[in-house]
Amino acid sequence: NEGDGSHGPQKPALGLTGRKIIYDKDGKPCRACNTLLDFKMATGAKPKVSGTFPGFSTAYAKDEPPDVEQLGRSTWTFLHSVAASYPEEASISQQEDMKSFLNIFGKIYPCWFCAKDFTKYIGENQPKVKTQEDFGRWLCDAHNSVNKKLGKPQFDCNLWKKRWKDGWDE
Ligand code: FAD
Repeated sequence: NEGDGSHGPQKPALGLTGRKIIYDKDGKPCRACNTLLDFKMATGAKPKVSGTFPGFSTAYAKDEPPDVEQLGRSTWTFLHSVAASYPEEASISQQEDMKSFLNIFGKIYPCWFCAKDFTKYIGENQPKVKTQEDFGRWLCDAHNSVNKKLGKPQFDCNLWKKRWKDGWDE
C-alpha cells in the first residue's frame, strides 16, 4: 500500500500468469485489465467452477464477468464484424460516424490501459474509413499492433475479409 497507512492486504505486483497486476484508480484490481486467474489471485478469491443456479436447470450458467482476454476476443469479433458490414463506399457522414465511434470507443473501453494505447494508436495512425476495404485493413493493422505488443503472431491482413466476412471456402 502506497503510504495510505492502511493495514489492508498487500497488493501483489505480479499475478500467477507472471503478468503485472493492473489496479484501477480506486486501488482495486481491474477485472477488465487482468486475466481471471490473476484477478482472483489479487482479490484473494478462490476460482469457482461455473454451474447453474440450484433448482433452475434451465437458468443461465454462473459465468464470470469477462477478463482482459475474453473482453478482447469479443471486442475484436465485434469490431471486425463492424468492418465487414461497413459500406463498400462510405458517405462523408458514415465516415464521420465511424471516426466518432472509434474516438468514443477509446474513451469507454473497460480495460483502461488497452484503451489508452489504442487511443494513442489512433492519434498516430488516423483511421482509414473511406471504403470497407480501407477500414478492414486499417483495423487489421491496429489489431496487429496489439498482437505485436503481446508477442502474438501477426495476422495476414490480405485475409481479413475471409476471416471476418466471406469465410474460407469462397
Ligand atoms: P484475439 O487477439 O482476441 O483475436 C481474435 C481472433 O481475431 C483471432 O483468433 C484471429 O482469428 C483474429 N485475428 C487476430 N489478429 C487479427 C488481425 N490483426 N486482424 C484481423 N483478425 C485478427 N490485451 C492486453 O493484454 N493488453 C492490451 O494492451 C490489450 N489491448 C487491447 C486493445 C483493444 C482495442 C482490444 C479490442 C483488445 C486488447 N487486448 C489487450 C486484448 C487482446 O488483443 C486479445 O483480445 C486477448 O489477448 C485474447 O487474444 P486471442 O489470442 O484470443 O485473440
